[in-house]
Amino acid sequence: MAATPSPTGRVDALVVGAGPAGSTAAWRLARAGHRVLMIEEHPRVGHPVQCAGLVSRRVLDLAGAPAVVRREVRGATVFGPSLRSVDFRAQEPRAFVIDRAGLDVHLADRAAAAGVEVRTSTRFDARVADEDGGVRVRLRGPDGTAEELVPRLVVGADGVASAVARAFRLRRPVEILPAFEAEFPVSPGDPETVEVYLGRSIAPGLFGWWIPDGQGGARVGVAADADGTTARAYYERLLAALARRFGRPLRNPTALLAAGIPIGRLPKVVGRRVVLVGDAAAQVKPLSGGGIFTGMRAAELAAETAAGALADDDLSERRLDGYARAFDAELGDEFRRALYLRRVFVRLSDRELDALVDVLRSGGLGGTIVAFGDIDFPSHVARQLLRESPGLLRLLPKALGAFVAPAGAGFAAPDLEPGPLRK
Ligand SMILES: Cc1cc2nc3c(=O)[nH]c(=O)nc-3n(C[C@H](O)[C@H](O)[C@H](O)COP(=O)(O)OP(=O)(O)OC[C@H]3O[C@@H](n4cnc5c(N)ncnc54)[C@H](O)[C@@H]3O)c2cc1C
Repeated sequence: MAATPSPTGRVDALVVGAGPAGSTAAWRLARAGHRVLMIEEHPRVGHPVQCAGLVSRRVLDLAGAPAVVRREVRGATVFGPSLRSVDFRAQEPRAFVIDRAGLDVHLADRAAAAGVEVRTSTRFDARVADEDGGVRVRLRGPDGTAEELVPRLVVGADGVASAVARAFRLRRPVEILPAFEAEFPVSPGDPETVEVYLGRSIAPGLFGWWIPDGQGGARVGVAADADGTTARAYYERLLAALARRFGRPLRNPTALLAAGIPIGRLPKVVGRRVVLVGDAAAQVKPLSGGGIFTGMRAAELAAETAAGALADDDLSERRLDGYARAFDAELGDEFRRALYLRRVFVRLSDRELDALVDVLRSGGLGGTIVAFGDIDFPSHVARQLLRESPGLLRLLPKALGAFVAPAGAGFAAPDLEPGPLRK
């Protein structure tokens, strides 16, 4: 189909994808006085939901959206493969179950209120050519019509399969964990506690979860390194484990979803006239697969750098790389530690995972977990536990000594074979 000229005219920044990362970047850029167009390929922002919606208070603060909270979470129960478990409970809320679609809509509305033009049913299709003063891109509208425009900057916030990353040759293989989740309108279980299920037969490579939805039901899912086995098959096994635990099966699932979670670091998240944020940049916590906080924070940092770069008309890779450096300064150590811990974790056998649960339960470590537990920075509690528990160090003899180094000493991961890679 022939391309028609853009009715939008010149925009400073084209933000591709209206998820939490895209809407945050768009909002910040518009507030800094730039003309921003944000496009979303789906007809409705926030739909389909592809998320369990468990976040820290930091997300609520970044979003300024307490209304999306459905339930406060104070506790967690971790089950080993044999369903022996350990419980942690804090006095105060430690996490929040949110209305994820509501969050996305709130963030897009906030961006629109700041002057962002938001267009749904519009897809980033291709980078056509680099031009003086901008980069020509092709968008596809609802009926497939093509439109070209020349933004000065492109922000790729288009999720795990980022077309922007591909178009700007920033895509590199990272591990993509297949995930499968369903919502159950009715479920037994403690509405203030999330449950985590470990085990090679349930979720090799990450874990399974049962998360209360705040309305009497639960979100149940797995993310697993599903080599040769589908994430759905692991999810079915998790359901069988839950049926044993609750003494009856969960019934009538709704909103089944299959999606991918990127784990790893991209060597480059910026190029000339382009920045990637959120899942498009694999800014997902390696130990949990959660990416809302990290993606939104990255978007803020990206927008801060990009706003200055637009103002100075210097959209070189070198200038935009200030964002990558800022992200690394703030979250780089946590990512390096978490990626390393994950490599250790994925090598544990079911017997070792059961032993891990036993040590956590019997070692009097509950207080440490409650004191240091932070879903955005899980390596902190891991390091403290390793310092306090010789039993844990004996169980995990894989060069974990690096973790007990003093805080602030930086972290260089000891040698260990890299985990599995997928494109
Ligand atoms: C099963 C599952 C459960 C999860 N649970 C949690 C959780 O409990 N807590 C947590 O913090 N994280 C969780 N995550 C991760 C979290 O959902 C992501 O990290 C987060 O959504 C990333 O935000 P984003 O804005 O980068 O990308 P997305 O939310 O993926 O948004 C990208 C947007 O871009 C749009 N798009 C894609 N391609 C194009 C294109 N070519 N043109 C235009 N638009 C396009 C998409 O439609 C989408 O709206 C979960 C993920 C999965 C799969």
